[in-house]
Amino acid sequence: MYSHYFRRKIYLMHQENTSTAPDTAKPGTSLLDPFARTISYLRLSLTDRCNLRCLYCVTEEEGDGSLCKLNHEDLLSYEELVRVVRVAVSMGISKLRLTGGEPLTRRGVLPFIAALGSIDGLSDIRLTTNGVFLADKAEALFAAGVGKVNISLDSLKPERFARITGVDCFREVWRGVETALTVGFSPVKLNVVVMAGINDDELEDFARLSQQLPVQVRFIEFMPMGVGSRWSRDMYLSTDAIMAAISRLGELLPVEHVSHDGPARVYRLGKDARGSLGFISPISHHFCDTCNRLRLTSAGSLRSCLLHDEEIDLRAILRATNDDAAIRAAIRQAIVNKPKGHQLEERLRDSGGDCHGRMSRIGG
Ligand code: SAM
Repeated sequence: MYSHYFRRKIYLMHQENTSTAPDTAKPGTSLLDPFARTISYLRLSLTDRCNLRCLYCVTEEEGDGSLCKLNHEDLLSYEELVRVVRVAVSMGISKLRLTGGEPLTRRGVLPFIAALGSIDGLSDIRLTTNGVFLADKAEALFAAGVGKVNISLDSLKPERFARITGVDCFREVWRGVETALTVGFSPVKLNVVVMAGINDDELEDFARLSQQLPVQVRFIEFMPMGVGSRWSRDMYLSTDAIMAAISRLGELLPVEHVSHDGPARVYRLGKDARGSLGFISPISHHFCDTCNRLRLTSAGSLRSCLLHDEEIDLRAILRATNDDAAIRAAIRQAIVNKPKGHQLEERLRDSGGDCHGRMSRIGG
């Protein structure tokens, strides 16, 4: 069994011998990491700002939200982002997710997406949003090239939704969900971070929703993210516990995995359900073996793993040179740095330690 160090060494030697010459790299090239995982998916956090203050996302470190925000010049400009994406696609990235903070709060997002849409080889642009501005923007987003949308929806009860998000906006978000379904995004996924004592009494309601509407409701295990996260063992509910609760309603029928399912295990609650249920278990059944992702934080750092704080300052590289070879080298390095697994369970057991990275900058 090779240690991670030797795997990285062998991987680098292999890359030196086989990598395509910088300016002849073509879309369709594949990016393999030292553990033979194909990296094809880049997540861009467009801003760390958000119009909501979701209790699982905002940490003590972020306080009331007015602290620690990035200045506009700290964010990558749209031109810089398009440059990174073009290079990444030429190396083998084919899927992109726009996230944040709240990506729809950043001015000029629609022309930016249209510019992404013209990148040859980029087949798939996705969006994760809190949905507040979605009803008004859905049609234009779809026309600009976003095909798939994930909407965070952690409660179906308006007052509770306001308590979780800090803002009374359930109706706007629900209008966003309805509009997303009529505009043609496929799939429309609803992300539910399950928190014991906060929204776990709504699991059955969410499951029934997946029978009534052609959506995928995705139950995500609550993760300890950021210094001063509200996460605690008591608030954590494992996927097994979530599935057991939902199984009381009827049989969960496994659905064949398709590529946009990502790490979710997908089921249908009864054969007549119009939608499906996805279960995402970053803690209890982590999916590191099949992880295909790189992340670019809103501060312009390349991050190899959601739960590992090692990052590469791509912003400094972008601003230091016009030579795209430097971007390619940084992307290769981020792939070399990708750990085999996040070991969050062990870290929680040993030190209770949270991951330091803030969700609002990383983008989930
Ligand atoms: N503003 C957008 C939104 O609300 O969907 C995008 C950013 S948000 C950080 C991206 C995703 O991260 C959301 O679906 C949210 O549910 C998830 N998320 C944030 N903090 C989390 C945590 N501590 N544990 C699990 N998921 C989390």
